[in-house]
Order: sequence, then structure tokens, then C-alpha cells
Amino acid sequence: MTAQAPVPAPVAVVTGASSGIGAATARQLVAAGFEVVVGARRLDRLRDVAAPIGARALPLDVTDPASVEAFCAEVPRCAVLVNNAGGALGLEPVASADEEAWRWMYEANVLGVARMTRALLPALEASGDGQVITIGSIAAHEAYAGGAGYNAAKFGVRAVMQVLRAELLGRPVRVCQIDPGMVDTEFSRVRFAGDEHRAAQVYAGMTPLSADDVAACVVFAATRPPHVNLDSIVVTARDQLGTRQVHRRA
Ligand code: NAP
Repeated sequence: MTAQAPVPAPVAVVTGASSGIGAATARQLVAAGFEVVVGARRLDRLRDVAAPIGARALPLDVTDPASVEAFCAEVPRCAVLVNNAGGALGLEPVASADEEAWRWMYEANVLGVARMTRALLPALEASGDGQVITIGSIAAHEAYAGGAGYNAAKFGVRAVMQVLRAELLGRPVRVCQIDPGMVDTEFSRVRFAGDEHRAAQVYAGMTPLSADDVAACVVFAATRPPHVNLDSIVVTARDQLGTRQVHRRA
């Protein structure tokens, strides 16, 4: 009998893995048997996530086409793309909208996802069982006061994922959007420009999701059999109802 060559582990790419949901997802995907490539702007933080789990860390700014191109050129094989990089800036009403903040949110949450997906689609298809898993938000389903810039971006990326699913019908690439509610990560610190007190208030008196709770949803989607497409998973804390109601204990 001739020895069979070992089958290489499927490659998963996780964007925005230097903290929060992306870091937890990278850890859980490695534990599930994937070879993981992670990207983010803060390379020191990214390496701290990647080194202990044996993932590959590469610099990535999804708002920069040249950075996306350089990153993806280093990833010849890819079965799963987790579009996680993104976030919110500010909570200003439309009446005093900060256009720069809106532009960044659109660049990171919508164009960044489109760029990464476009660049890795050939490899995803060539894998024979590719999957695009995008972290949206419940803000993609329900608007809230102060949320317009972020709502617009997350509604936008949800539309892009729905279009992609239609365009890929009949081809071996699945499309899943995971839409979390409140998750205790650096998200609110970024949103409020480093204001720790304001960020902590977001989760006061309630139990938010953890990054691991969302990562578990990603791994669940990524490990379904090839014929199963989870279009979307909406996941919130028990203490949260949509984007507008949170039960807080005194
Ligand atoms: P986080 O802890 O702030 O993580 C955001 C990650 O995105 C960081 O690793 C950051 O890394 C990366 N990132 C930001 N801009 C980037 C860019 N231009 N290029 C590459 N990477 C970039 O927040 P998180 O909660 O884990 O957020 C992850 C995703 O979940 C986001 O899409 C967010 O909108 C979504 N989400 C979060 C919540 C929540 O309540 N936390 C709820 C719903 C949805 P660098 O700064 O090092 O680049």
C-alpha cells in the first residue's frame, strides 16, 4: 500500500483579530482544526494573539486597497473568510453628523468587507467548500437614535452579503452573516474615542455577550456540512431586546 499524503488543514482568514471577537474567533478556529491567518493594523497586539495559538499574523488595514492586496497575496489557500474588522465611531444625531466618522465606518464595515471578499473569492471557490462569514450587528436590522452612521454601514454590509449569496448560488461558497447585540470588547472604547467611563456605562447593570459567545457562532457556522448554509445568526444577551431595550439591574 502506498502512503497517502496528509490532507492539509483548511485555511481560515480572520480580519480584525488583534482584539475582541476577531481574537476569540482565531483561537476557537485553531481549536477546531483550522490553519488560521489573522490581520489587523496593530501588529504587536495581533502577534500576541497569534503566537500562542500558532496562527500567522499579517498587517492589514481593510480601508486601504493596497494593504488588502498585499495581505491576500500571502494567502494562496483559503476556505473560510471571517470579515470581522470594523466598528463604530461616535453616537451623534444626524443633525450633527461627523462626516469623517461616517466615512470611516463605511470604509471599514462595508468597503473593507467587499474588498476582502473580492480578493479571496477565487481561493474560496477553489477550495471546493468556501465560506464567507461576516460579523454584522443587530444594528443591521434595527435603527436607533445616534446610530445613523453605524446603522447605515451595517445595513449596507447586510445588503452586500444578501447580494453575494444570490450571486454565488450554484457555486461552492456559502455566505453567512452573524449579527451580535452588545458584546464586551473594545468596541465601545473605540466608539467613544477611549473614554473608559462612557464605554463602561454601556454594559452597566446588564450581562453582555462575551467575544467567545460570538466566536462560538462563527465556529458553528464554519463547521456545518458543505450543503448547509446558515444565512444569518442573530445573537444577543438575554438582557437585551433589539437595539433599543436593555434590562439593567440596579
Ligand atoms: P474591537 O475589540 O474594537 O475589535 C475590532 C477589531 O477590528 C480590532 O482587532 C481592530 O484591530 C480591527 N480593525 C478596525 N479597523 C480595522 C481596519 N481598518 N483594518 C483591519 N482591522 C481593523 O471590537 P469587536 O466588538 O470585537 O468588533 C468586531 C466586529 O464586531 C466589528 O465589525 C463590530 O462592528 C462588530 N460588532 C460588535 C459589537 C459589540 O457590541 N462589541 C456588536 C455587534 C457587532 P486594529 O485596531 O489593530 O486594526
